Amino acid sequence: MRRMLIFSWITIVAVFFFSALPSWAEEGATGKTAKHVKKVGKKAKEKEDGKSKNARKEGKKKAGKKEARKQEKKGAALPKAAAIKSEEPEPAALVKEIRHWSNPDYTRIAVTLDREARFEYHRILAAGDAGASRVYIDIEGARLDPGVKDHPIGDGLLKTARVAQYRADVVRVVLDLDSIKDYKIFTFSSPFRIIIDVKGDRQPEISATKESIKEAPPLAEVAKIAAVEEKVQPAKKGKPAKIRRIVVDPGHGGHDPGAVGAGGTREKDVVLQIGLKLARKLKEELGLDVVMTRSTDVFIELQERTAIANKVGADLFVSVHANASLNRNASGMETYYLNLAKTEKAAQLAAKENGTSLEKVSLLQAVLFDLMANYKLNDSAHLADEVQKAAYGKANAQFPLKNLGVKQGPFYVLVGATMPSILVETAFLSNEREEERLKDPRYQEAVAEGITAGIKGYISTLK
Ligand SMILES: [Zn+2]
Repeated sequence: MRRMLIFSWITIVAVFFFSALPSWAEEGATGKTAKHVKKVGKKAKEKEDGKSKNARKEGKKKAGKKEARKQEKKGAALPKAAAIKSEEPEPAALVKEIRHWSNPDYTRIAVTLDREARFEYHRILAAGDAGASRVYIDIEGARLDPGVKDHPIGDGLLKTARVAQYRADVVRVVLDLDSIKDYKIFTFSSPFRIIIDVKGDRQPEISATKESIKEAPPLAEVAKIAAVEEKVQPAKKGKPAKIRRIVVDPGHGGHDPGAVGAGGTREKDVVLQIGLKLARKLKEELGLDVVMTRSTDVFIELQERTAIANKVGADLFVSVHANASLNRNASGMETYYLNLAKTEKAAQLAAKENGTSLEKVSLLQAVLFDLMANYKLNDSAHLADEVQKAAYGKANAQFPLKNLGVKQGPFYVLVGATMPSILVETAFLSNEREEERLKDPRYQEAVAEGITAGIKGYISTLK
């Protein structure tokens, strides 16, 4: 099987070489991606049982090869395939929605399904047209909700996302690209979403993202938070030029309560209260523009939270959470930035915050380095240091607690952020004493005050 794979790669490379397509460098980048995803696919495959499934897969591979030859005859073809597993044989998955977010240097597409499904993706380069190409994704065992139509984008990177019931059991999503440098495909769960991030050189007339920021961003969720954004104060004098706008992201919300304490306290409620206090302080004390991902009890998907931050051109992103542990004695405050989990505990917490299993977290870790291409690792670590130090200090002065320090973990909510971004675990809801504190407006105030001081400290080091 491995040999076959290598052989088909050689074929693909040969086809690619002889069709004299424009950019090697570009292909190198996507080749790397495909390899990474394949690794994930392979791991997943090992977990799958059922011989009929494997037989089906073999058939598909052959079909894929045939298709490659067919396209070769047409003169310009470069199929790339990778597969991500489905957990069990099940009825058709319903493709429910396609959405997109345009960011300064990439566009994110999310295809939402009602359950997990296998899919393959391919890229076709148009001959002679530098950069222009097409990516299509075949979702297997899937039906298209009649309400889902072609999705116009036109942001200079993508023209449209077209969608159709390609075969009785296959839904095909085709992305028509204006230009492409690289793309990443990964998945989120609950609900299952296929995420495609496309990077490229935006057409100049549309690349002026600053302008689109001045207009109300056409994101429903940004509209929801407009009430908060409207009150943004004009910049104060003496404020460092570098950090102007910050996104405050209270975790969870709506149907997702987050952690729930023994006394019934819900994470989504206490982190919203802390987030609102934090937003006010950042505006009043530091004169920053503040955008909240949510200022009410609504659910916002994880991938959308950093998309909002990118969309509004935020300079910092702070996600506010409350911790939980099976060990009810566990307590204290800690701050995370995005990286591979260094400890089992960090991986477990990431699984909880991501709303997924540990296994999914390890799949995410396998592609994390690719996803982190734009992540400000050092700046985020620095921001985390400042915030943890100050937030712990302020809280501890009134409410003595444990300093758990700065840690690293693969948190979905931080994936895709192009600015320094952190996640603060303000205390443990699973700990009786800390649950009481998290409900206490004075503790909330102290934490908000401390995070504000940490951000102030961070900004002052940039001068
Ligand atoms: Zn949380």
